[in-house]
Amino acid sequence: MRLIVDDTHLGPPELAWNVSKGLASVQPIEIGDTRRIVLVAAHPDDEVFGAGGLIQYGLSKGMSLQLLAVTDGEGCHPDSEVAPTLDLAAIRHSESREALRRLGWVEPDIAQLHLPDGEVMNNQETLRAKLMTMLRPGDLCVASWWRDGHPDHDACGAAALWASQMVGAKMLGYLVWAWHWANPQGADIPWEQCRRLDLQDRERARKRWATGAFDSQINPIGRAAADAAVLPAPLLRRFWRPYEIYVEASRMPV
Ligand SMILES: [Zn+2]
Repeated sequence: MRLIVDDTHLGPPELAWNVSKGLASVQPIEIGDTRRIVLVAAHPDDEVFGAGGLIQYGLSKGMSLQLLAVTDGEGCHPDSEVAPTLDLAAIRHSESREALRRLGWVEPDIAQLHLPDGEVMNNQETLRAKLMTMLRPGDLCVASWWRDGHPDHDACGAAALWASQMVGAKMLGYLVWAWHWANPQGADIPWEQCRRLDLQDRERARKRWATGAFDSQINPIGRAAADAAVLPAPLLRRFWRPYEIYVEASRMPV
């Protein structure tokens, strides 16, 4: 699937999701007695957009948190003439750290794998091996949903699912790009497998503040069409909702 974002490809508006029967049917999540969360981000920002509420929940419960940044996200503006003049990898990691700090994670524990942006599928073995060194039995592994619709997101989700089942960890898949392509009234998202994490007003406000740290994603980096924002305002609103949705991996075939 090729994800297109421009003025004529903005995905379903929030109004459409607000009346989604499938979304309304999703039951609340039960995190259980997990003491440690291992987050997996294909690009430095996915962990905040997809799981910024869960990160705050984990911090509030005194859980130990660790983040694996799989790529540096350097390929976010592939056709831009401005992008090569910027150190996008460094910029994106620094934006991610600032966003996590805004969520209350003052000194985030981040492992960087530096896989090439866009090439996670071709480096599955490296990612799997890294996850096997990080995950322990009883952990909660939180990665992009294995069918989120971006090749890197799908590959991270698949590797996290595999490693979690190998180790005996629980796994939840967060949604980022699925909100862009899925039909709100359809069954593209497996609603019965989904669970909802409700955010308190304060958590929601902090998450919205955190999404503002991703300047290189939410604003244009130049004047040409290829420099346009990756996440223009209508898309960003998806991540300001008072809830997050996770796909539960239990009993899923690998
Ligand atoms: Zn991403």
